[in-house]
This record gives sequence, C-alpha cells and structure tokens, in this order.
Amino acid sequence: MKTYKIAAIPGDGIGGEVISAGVEVLQALAKREGHFAVAVDTFDWGGEYYKTHGRMMPANGRDLIRHHDAILFGSAGHPDIPDHVTLWGLRLAICQPFDQYANVRPTRILPGITSPLRGVEGNELDWVIVRENSEGEYAGVGGRVHQGLPIEAATDVSMFTRAGVERIMRFAFRLAQSRPRKLLTVVTKSNAQRHAMVMWDEIATTVAAEFPDVTWDKMLVDAMTVRMVMKPQTLDTIVATNLHADILSDLAAALAGSLGIAPTANLNPERTFPSMFEPIHGSAFDITGKGIANPIGTFWSSVMLLDHLGEAAAARRLMAAIERVTGDARFHTPDLGGHARTTDVTAAVIDAINGANS
Ligand code: NAD
Ligand code: MN
Repeated sequence: MKTYKIAAIPGDGIGGEVISAGVEVLQALAKREGHFAVAVDTFDWGGEYYKTHGRMMPANGRDLIRHHDAILFGSAGHPDIPDHVTLWGLRLAICQPFDQYANVRPTRILPGITSPLRGVEGNELDWVIVRENSEGEYAGVGGRVHQGLPIEAATDVSMFTRAGVERIMRFAFRLAQSRPRKLLTVVTKSNAQRHAMVMWDEIATTVAAEFPDVTWDKMLVDAMTVRMVMKPQTLDTIVATNLHADILSDLAAALAGSLGIAPTANLNPERTFPSMFEPIHGSAFDITGKGIANPIGTFWSSVMLLDHLGEAAAARRLMAAIERVTGDARFHTPDLGGHARTTDVTAAVIDAINGANS
C-alpha cells in the first residue's frame, strides 16, 4: 500500500486547531479509501518556537521536509512578533527556496453558503486565481538606510524576470485551457507601472499564441475589483502578480462567503520540491483557542493536496463531503453566521466521508 508522507506545520494562532482537524480528516479519508495511507510528521515551528530559539524554524528545517510528498501548513503570525519576521521566517522561507512559484486559489460559493453579493448564486462565481508566488513585489529586494534619522529612506523593489513571468503565464494559460470555459483574465497595472508591468503584458501576449483555444483578456487591477463585484460571471481563470493576487484573492474569499473557507496550493509544478497546501486565512488571534475556527479552508486545501498526489477519487470524495456539510446550516461556524464548533464540522465531514456514496 502506498504511504504518503505529509509534513504538517500548524504554525500560530488557529493554525493548530485547523491543521489537527485537517489531519484527522485525511486519516479518516485514507481509511475509507483503503488503498493508501497517510503518515503525518508534525513540526512545531512558528511564533512559540521563535520565542525559545530566536528563529521561526530550525536552520536545517527545509532539509527535514524536503523529501515529504506534501506540506500542510496552518498560519504564520504571532501577536508578540512583527508580521514580517513570522512571514519571512517561516512561510516564505519554505515557498521561495522550494520554488513554489504557482499559488493557486480556487473560489466558489459552496452549497449552503451565502455570498455577500446580492443575487449571485453558486454557479455564477467559479474562479481560480493564479498568483505569481516567487518574485515580483515580494522578491524581498530593497533596504533601509539612515534608520531612525530624519533622512531615513526605504525601498521595496519589485523584481520581475522574463523566466518568472513566462512560467506563471504558461501555467495560467494551461490551467485555463483545462477548465470548461477556457477563459483567462490577465491582471495588470501597466498604465502606472510602466516597466515591469509592460513586460508582463508583452509576455502574456507571446504566451497566449501557444494557446489559441483559450480566450483571454487584460484588466487593470483597480478595475478588476469592480468587475469581481459587479460581473462575477464574466471571470473564470485569473492570473496576477504576487501583490495584486494577494489582495484580489482575499476579496474573492470574502465574496465567496468567508475567509474561513478559502483554500490555496503553493505548487512547485516540476515537483523538484514538495508543494505546500494551506487555508488562505491567517492566525485569527480574535478567535484563537475558542474552538470556533472554520476548518473548511483546511479541508478544501487537503482536496488540492490529494489532487496533487494523484488521488483524484479521494479528492472528489472529500470535496463532496465538504459540500454536504456546508449545505447543512447546523454545521456553520460563527464566521458563517452559525453556532457550530471546529470539532462539530470535523466530525460531520468525517461522517460524510464514511457515509458518502461509495
Ligand atoms: P486573519 O485571516 O487571521 O483574520 C481575519 C479575520 O477573519 C478575523 O476576524 C478572523 O477571526 C477571521 N477568520 C480567519 N480565519 C478564520 C477561520 N478559519 N474561521 C473563522 N474566522 C476566521 O487575518 P489578520 O487578522 O489580518 O492576520 C492575523 C495574523 O495572521 C497576522 O499575524 C498575519 O500576519 C497572519 N497571517 C498569516 C497568513 C499566512 O500564514 N498565510 C495569512 C494571513 C495572515
Ligand atoms: Mn494574503
């Protein structure tokens, strides 16, 4: 029997609560499927680890997870530690060296979930946002001089490479091609950002020629926020830079009902390194320890993990279980306006896995 090695990194805040729920569900699913097993190694990296060791993960941390089949990640972000330290010390310290350059974020309104968009039904919002995840505005290029003096200056330089833009465009066109509508929107800001974003547009045009069956259009990022709200039906696959997609995907998650539901995959498509799967949300300090974190984002991320491992049938079974549970308001956590607890939702999904049409 095939055993998949999963590295679980709960991280901070509600990360621990949703990842333990996710691991429970994966184990139940493996048992139900019967033809594969899941061996989970859990790593206690994050804010508390930082307080003891002065760093978010050990110096050889990546070597400890390099040979796992996939990584399931919770959240990095601790109330006592600056966010740029936790983010760069853990999440980006994994994403960037493991070259997880394609960040994929499906957005749908699941059964039973109400979108804040008036009159928009489930099937009218079905998007996949592809976020460039390795360079651009988050390349980490920049610095500060004259710190603390009146003449202090600081820069964050966006770094776009032809290779980096080409590979994300090709990934996005290929993904768009695999979806029924074969429709791609390339988000840009080439009116104001007249160097890198102009190159971004040029490369989109070049790569588009390889995909004659994909219909594509170009959209300035500010206008894109309006289109997402006013005409959600006109969008399908979307590709955007690291910063633009970061912002647009939080908007997308909110339009689909809650940040607590939205999943994401940080893919290394060449599979040289493990890929990482995580809910979009952060540590949610306001609800940490209360037992009411919505675990659906982590479960949906686990669906993406299973798909990446090639376990398509198991992925479908888990997604069906998730949709059965969101369709029942008794299992809505407070972020969805309900009273359910994390453990209630987890138990219901496991029941659905076991009861679901075999
Ligand atoms: P957040 O996502 O943690 O929370 C935003 C709001 O959404 C909060 O009101 C929270 O209670 C709610 N929420 C989020 N996830 C939920 C869930 N699963 N169930 C129910 N409600 C949920 O964003 P924030 O408050 O801006 O950030 C808090 C910390 O998390 C910061 O330190 C930030 O840097 C970090 N963060 C980390 C990641 C990551 O590791 N990928 C992502 C975003 C934020
Ligand atoms: Mn974000």
